[in-house]
Amino acid sequence: MRQDLIGHSEEGRPIWVLQMGVQAAALRILIVSGQHGDEDRGWMAVQRFAADDPVQADQSVPVAIALVPNINPDGAARRTRTNARGVDLNRDHLRLTSAETRALHRFVRAWRPHLVVDVHQFPPRRRHLLARQLIFCHDVFLDVPTHPAAQHPALGDAGTRLLQPILSALNAAGYRSARYTRVTESGRVRHSTVDVVDARNGLALRYQLPTVLVEGRGWSRGDGPAVKAHVLAGMQEALRLIVQWAQANYARLTEAPPGPASVPIRTRYRPAASPRTLEFADPHSSLIRPVELPGRFTPHVETKARVHLPRAYAVPRTLPTLVELLRRHAFALVPSPPDRVERIERYRVNELKPPRPNRSPRKIELQMSTEHQPLHDYLLLSTAAGAGPALAVLLEPASNYGLARFADMGIPLTPQSAYPILRVL
Ligand SMILES: [Zn+2]
Repeated sequence: MRQDLIGHSEEGRPIWVLQMGVQAAALRILIVSGQHGDEDRGWMAVQRFAADDPVQADQSVPVAIALVPNINPDGAARRTRTNARGVDLNRDHLRLTSAETRALHRFVRAWRPHLVVDVHQFPPRRRHLLARQLIFCHDVFLDVPTHPAAQHPALGDAGTRLLQPILSALNAAGYRSARYTRVTESGRVRHSTVDVVDARNGLALRYQLPTVLVEGRGWSRGDGPAVKAHVLAGMQEALRLIVQWAQANYARLTEAPPGPASVPIRTRYRPAASPRTLEFADPHSSLIRPVELPGRFTPHVETKARVHLPRAYAVPRTLPTLVELLRRHAFALVPSPPDRVERIERYRVNELKPPRPNRSPRKIELQMSTEHQPLHDYLLLSTAAGAGPALAVLLEPASNYGLARFADMGIPLTPQSAYPILRVL
């Protein structure tokens, strides 16, 4: 096994990647754990997975595996969820404000994995569920990207091509597992967020690759050594099954997906016809039973608006925070050739409501005009080579998980004014 440095944390701690399997293999899988520094179970499962060297056992399809067991060494040293500057790394894949997420993205761009697995642990006891005498009884939860612009054909519709076989294999092997389900205090039942700030959605969108979230059961009062060993074995088995699945789906993963004709930029949660049923344990008797979760189960994400991709987006140089962020994401920013007249589309914001701080407007009404003009004070970002979907989600004014929602980005989005980012045809 080879160990390489991929960068340093905010406090200068090294971040390592371990390379396993066949170095020159055509199939590459990246496994990351420890984004949350207080989740050492993910790190332990990944270490065990590496020690067992599962790649040696199965050479049917040669595979290279890169493991970043501890992407947040400062958080791990402090036993905190965040990094040394208080940034939750798994909410930083859009802004890339921290050294750790930047190092990870740099590695992804250089190594170009076909699949990224992000390993976490979840707290089995949540106060609002305990109040209803419910404790999560699962060993492993899995999930896939949820933003519609972050979908990869290899995972199938809503990830079923991956989730179905792996969850049933885990359950058959005695590891209680299901699709990751969040139950919020306010009664929303969802499969995590659609926002592109986390690794699962953020990496999938930016690099148009499939990702998988693995959530192992976290430590809990009363869990004996047998429970802990069982959960670790279940997480290790999940990782082994994911690698095996990737080998079986080699062609789908390594084939470049067709460039999208249009990109979904505005989404809405759609409720299911029936409530979500999930197994829970009783805190007193430890008895496990299926429970119909109260509250709105909104598992479907519906596309409300899509855009056709322009040839490029033009960003004014006068928006330095935005330009800097786009550079961090390593998008190529090219000055428009002097005196060349471009055909562009410009948005005008007619109506916007309500523009709450750091949230996307609930309703936006735009009007578009086509013009011809030279773009002296602009930088052009090409939508070719897989960059299109990410650029559309980040830059379109109607995108509800885009950058215009952040006040400090300085992208004016106000009624009765022109939107500063242009579409170049
Ligand atoms: Zn986590």
